[in-house]
This record gives sequence, structure tokens and C-alpha cells, in this order.
Amino acid sequence: MVLPGLPEKLPHVALPRGVQEAWQLKRSLGERAVYSGGGTLLRTQWENQVQPVPFQLIALDRLKMLRGIHVSDGGMVEVGAMSTLNECIADPLLTRSAPQLIQALRQIAAPAVRNLATLGGNVCSWSGDVLPALLALDAEVSVYAEGKQLRLPLDAWLNTSTRDPHALLCRIYVPPAADGAEDGLSLAMYAKVGRRQAFTASLVTVAVAGRFTKNGTVRGIRIVAGGGGAAAQRLTAAENLLEGGQLSKERLFAVSDAIRNQYQAASDAFAGAEYRAEAAANLVAAHLWQIKDFKAP
Ligand SMILES: Cc1cc2nc3c(=O)[nH]c(=O)nc-3n(C[C@H](O)[C@H](O)[C@H](O)COP(=O)(O)OP(=O)(O)OC[C@H]3O[C@@H](n4cnc5c(N)ncnc54)[C@H](O)[C@@H]3O)c2cc1C
Repeated sequence: MVLPGLPEKLPHVALPRGVQEAWQLKRSLGERAVYSGGGTLLRTQWENQVQPVPFQLIALDRLKMLRGIHVSDGGMVEVGAMSTLNECIADPLLTRSAPQLIQALRQIAAPAVRNLATLGGNVCSWSGDVLPALLALDAEVSVYAEGKQLRLPLDAWLNTSTRDPHALLCRIYVPPAADGAEDGLSLAMYAKVGRRQAFTASLVTVAVAGRFTKNGTVRGIRIVAGGGGAAAQRLTAAENLLEGGQLSKERLFAVSDAIRNQYQAASDAFAGAEYRAEAAANLVAAHLWQIKDFKAP
């Protein structure tokens, strides 16, 4: 007899002890196997029949290399892919270096889910709400792929057409926060629009990073939009309009137009792509508008 809510055939579960062993198992079984972090997304996919229950789960729980949060040699905050969302939220290093990331994490699901859900699982869902924040921060990743350990920018990994489909995400590297003392104001921001205030899937998410210097120019600006099943995208046309320039009213109108034109949002039963692009443009422009009259003390 099958208990209610359980699939008819339960998957086998493997608990590899090394990343190479996990990757080899995944490669040998191909689509019949999936890696499992916290399993929170996988479970909803099976329940909603978006994905079939696999023959084999490769549970990543015993991989020590995928645990822990600390400062790495280059000063980056290094986060194991199996760190839960709540472990990341509670971490003082991440809180200091990446306020946008913490804001993104706090708005994902509910505390009970965040105790199980992992940062690696969110990234590897390819449309997770942390992706805009991580891309705006210029995060890097280390992955075990093609039989070796690789380290590369997250942006490059997400957008590589030749990506190893069995790649195992091991660690995520977040650059340290800029000192800022002589640098003016941080432009860091993350916003999520859903269908209700909390515990909701995203319609649109946006993240901004960079600085508004004491002499009133924008430096190191990065703007990313995502959410609602769309891949997170760098909005380079708007970035180019802002970089090295001032936050004038005319420029902010142009930035808003550029986002609306460039952002390839997704459409679904809840909101059209046009609405989402409009929302992304408004969120970024409103944030920059609040800062535009900032005068350094
Ligand atoms: C009630 C509820 C609400 C939710 N709300 C949100 C939300 O608001 N925003 C949001 O972004 N998500 C949301 N989610 C989805 C999910 O909880 C998060 O995306 C979570 O971070 C996924 O992490 P996980 O460890 O559970 O991933 P899993 O379910 O274990 O895996 C997700 C995918 O990533 C792959 N994977 C996992 N780890 C690795 C790895 N190290 N290397 C390679 N591949 C890997 C898996 O094979 C799978 O394809 C919600 C889920 C639930 C149940």
C-alpha cells in the first residue's frame, strides 16, 4: 500500500562521502539521478508533477566540503553549497559583506523551509531568488565538473552553453564589502515583488550594487533582475547609462526606459512579461531617486 502523498516508487538514496564520488555517480546514471540539497524544491516539483520522481537521489549531506562559511584567502566570504538559508542569514560575515543577499534570503519561503533549503539548491534551481543578489555582488562559484574542480564567476557558469549537466556546485564566494569611508554611499539594494506581502513566489526581483561617490558620481554599478521563473539577467544598458555619471532626473528616466527595453521577463498566468519589466524598471528608478540628492557630510 502507498501512503497518501508518497509517490508509488520511492527513489534509492545514495550518500556519497566525496565530491568526485557524487559526480561520478551522477554522470553514470544521467537523468535517472538528481542531487538533493535540502530537497525542498525537488519535493514541490514531484508533488506538482513538474518533474518525475527520479530512480536515484544523490543526497549531499555527508559532503564536508559543501559545509561551512568562512573568509577565504582572497578576503571573499566562502559559503558551502549545503549551508542552509537560515545559516546564511545568521552569519555575521555575510551580513556585513552582502546585505542584499541577506534581504533576498529573508524573503524566501518561511523559517521552517529555510532550515532545510540550501544556498546551493537555490542557485541550482536556475531561477532562485538569491541569483539577482549574487550576480549583483559579482559572486564566484567552485564546481566539480568534467572530472575536476573549477572556479569561475557565477555569471559565466550560469551562461555557459557547454556547462557539464552533472556539475556539482561546491562553494559560493561573495566579495568583501567595499570599505566605503571615502567612497560615499553604498547603492546596495534588493527588492522582491510577489502576489502578497510574505511567503510568496516572486513575480519580479531586482538587486543593485555599486557606490555613489562623494563627488556625486556612480561607480561599479551592477543591476540585475529576475524572478517568476525567468533567468536572472544583468541589465547592462542601464548600467552603462549610470557608470561614471550623476543621478540626474533625466538620466533616471533613461535608465528606467533602458530596463523596460532590455529585461526579458517571463509571462505566466499571474503576470505578463511587460508588467514585470515595468515593475523592475520602477523598483530600480525609485531606489536611485531616493539617493540622488545625497550630499556627503
Ligand atoms: C513552501 C515553499 C516556498 C518556497 N519559496 C521560495 C521563494 O520564495 N523563493 C525561492 O527562490 N525559492 C522558494 N522555494 C524553493 C526552494 O525552497 C528554494 O529554492 C531552496 O533554496 C532550494 O534549496 P534545496 O536545498 O531545498 O534544493 P533541492 O530541492 O535539494 O534542489 C534544487 C535543485 O538544485 C539541485 N541541486 C541542489 N544542490 C545542488 C548542488 N550542490 N550542486 C548541483 N545541483 C544541486 C537539485 O538537483 C535540484 O535540481 C520554496 C519552496 C517551498 C517548499
